[in-house]
Amino acid sequence: MKDNALDVSAGAPPGGPPGNLLGGTMEWRAVARVLRSPARAACSVFDDLVTTFFPADCRACGASLLRAEFSPHDIPICDLCLSQLRAQSQSIASALCRICGEALGMESDRFLGNSPTEGLLCTPCRMAPPAFDRAVAYGVYKNELREMLHLLKYDGVRSLAKPLAAKLAQAILMLEREEGWTGRANVISVPLFAASRSQRGFNQAETLADEAMSLLRKHRPSWNLKTRHSLLRRVKATESQFNLSDKGRRRNLVGAFKVFDETNALAGADVLLIDDIYIYTTGATSRACSQVLRRAGARHVWVATLARAQKEQVALWDSGARDFG
Ligand SMILES: [Zn+2]
Ligand SMILES: [Zn+2]
Repeated sequence: MKDNALDVSAGAPPGGPPGNLLGGTMEWRAVARVLRSPARAACSVFDDLVTTFFPADCRACGASLLRAEFSPHDIPICDLCLSQLRAQSQSIASALCRICGEALGMESDRFLGNSPTEGLLCTPCRMAPPAFDRAVAYGVYKNELREMLHLLKYDGVRSLAKPLAAKLAQAILMLEREEGWTGRANVISVPLFAASRSQRGFNQAETLADEAMSLLRKHRPSWNLKTRHSLLRRVKATESQFNLSDKGRRRNLVGAFKVFDETNALAGADVLLIDDIYIYTTGATSRACSQVLRRAGARHVWVATLARAQKEQVALWDSGARDFG
């Protein structure tokens, strides 16, 4: 099977220039509008007619959205925005840490002397290796991907779960390609605290995991992925990670997660831990979850997230409080 069979953004232009890691949402929206206007002007008469009857705007870029442009998934995102979703390999020029996926930038030069089997590691992974074996992510947490994840997570646009999960599935396939992973694992999503979950109505990590699993079961029938979200629970209401230091983030999560594994399903087993986003160099949430899973007997923990926020992005977030929700 070609891996891009999982790609719902049909017609996406291949490659494309590496994007700026940073950049505010408002700016790229404005740029997107200007870039798209000539093409749109050509069929504006038709557009005007149709949008009179079916008025809708793309929820990511604000461009007028033709009914005919709704994808088969019926999502309120235009084809162009969908096609702009980029894998990390297409938008980051620098090497990534072999374990956690942090962009190494200048660091990669310093550590080029490492043996090829060891690979390049970021400073946190060298100083205190995480309890997980490897964290993979689909794309950089910015622009369209960030916008779509916000729509799913905070505005409850559940129809976006399927196309986003297709991207998450692509990240999981990296484990097969690069680690020789054979798809035998318990699949567990990073839990929300019970009160937050009932407030939101769903756990976006769990929804993304379930949708990605139903895709992968079709595309990889030989894999054996058992969904067991209930084995891991968040037992402590944690404060927002936003205003905390690295150390504060780690301390905030001490005792936050607990494994409830009465049937010993985890003993000697592999775990695929799923989250919507992996934030910051310390990867505090993934580290904390992996620790309790390993302590409960898991042999290996692999982490897959839809998005990856790199350190330099986090440093510049202005309205980032929601991003740690
Ligand atoms: Zn759009
Ligand atoms: Zn690392």
